[in-house]
Amino acid sequence: MNIDFSKSGGLVPAVIQDTLSLQILMVGYMNEEALEKTRKEGKVTFFSRSKNRLWTKGETSGNWLVVDEILTDCDNDTILIKAYPQGPACHTGSVSCFGDKQSKGFLYELENVIEKRITENPEGSYTSKLFSRGVNKVAQKVGEEAVELVIEAKDDNIDLFKNEAADLLYHFLILLKTKKLKLEDIEAILVERHN
Ligand code: AMP
Ligand code: ZN
Ligand code: ZN
Ligand code: ZN
Repeated sequence: MNIDFSKSGGLVPAVIQDTLSLQILMVGYMNEEALEKTRKEGKVTFFSRSKNRLWTKGETSGNWLVVDEILTDCDNDTILIKAYPQGPACHTGSVSCFGDKQSKGFLYELENVIEKRITENPEGSYTSKLFSRGVNKVAQKVGEEAVELVIEAKDDNIDLFKNEAADLLYHFLILLKTKKLKLEDIEAILVERHN
């Protein structure tokens, strides 16, 4: 990997992304020495323009950014580092310097819509109607969708299978709401097992 540091006055931007959540955590600058140190020690080190020295993120807070993978862009003048954050990346306490509201993808957007339907209870909403029938009814519905998925798994119509898989995911999200849980809570368990 050959970063051309001369092109940009010795400093190149380094974007830090959470390997597991895919969230953009922060952006800093690296000189050659910072990149070298980052590679060698496996913790993200920037060149801080305000401190005018190498700055290993987490040096006082302990919120290190442990390096997973270092990538460069198409013309080798920007660095992307995938990392495992050991705490909030932002000095404000936010997970990310760009705030805590970054979408983690469509399933999370869908979860927000479901939450909105439940609180606002608009006329004709299937989601709010099902939710209002209580946890047992929602759980039963999840069971039914799971069975439908199993049935389609035995068949060879992949479109029907995909649609039942979607039904199951959607109803599964509603079931989480009846238990006052978030998709994030379940994801955390899977991440924990992964570690
Ligand atoms: P840390 O590297 O987390 O130990 O933080 C050391 C100091 O760096 C803090 O007191 C802040 O002034 C600064 N700092 C920490 N995190 C950030 C950040 N994400 N962006 C800008 N400055 C930061
Ligand atoms: Zn570039
Ligand atoms: Zn910040
Ligand atoms: Zn179904």
